[in-house]
Amino acid sequence: MSEECVFCDIAEGRAPGFVVAENDLAFAILDIQPLSQGHCLVIPRRHVEWWDGLTDDETDAVFRLARLTAAKIRKVFGPDLVTMYVRGRRVPHAHVFLVPTFKDDPLDRVFNALEGFQEQATTLTAIRGQDEMRAAAEKLKGA
Ligand SMILES: [Zn+2]
Repeated sequence: MSEECVFCDIAEGRAPGFVVAENDLAFAILDIQPLSQGHCLVIPRRHVEWWDGLTDDETDAVFRLARLTAAKIRKVFGPDLVTMYVRGRRVPHAHVFLVPTFKDDPLDRVFNALEGFQEQATTLTAIRGQDEMRAAAEKLKGA
């Protein structure tokens, strides 16, 4: 537990949260600054800064709950898709974003812009060759 962590406060009942689903090791709440209606966060109960610091059981719990919550979001709000990502710049307690996304909404435009960067082959040619891809994969496998 961190002394000044809003997600720990919610996990331990010291702060309110709009809980939409939960299990023993994780809970899902509405984001209080939503990018769209139904935007949720899936959060491990234990304070851990980065999601790659989760135990195997926590990883199972978080991502199973993310799948369940995404299905609820799709059922209730009917988005084109539910975008999932992890960042952690504002709250240093691992959390998964689940954002209902519709064509041309703000998040859709952000990802469209990112895909635009991916499609700019001239700036990324140096990392796209077969040898470069193979070398990157070997580095990751050996890490
Ligand atoms: Zn925390």
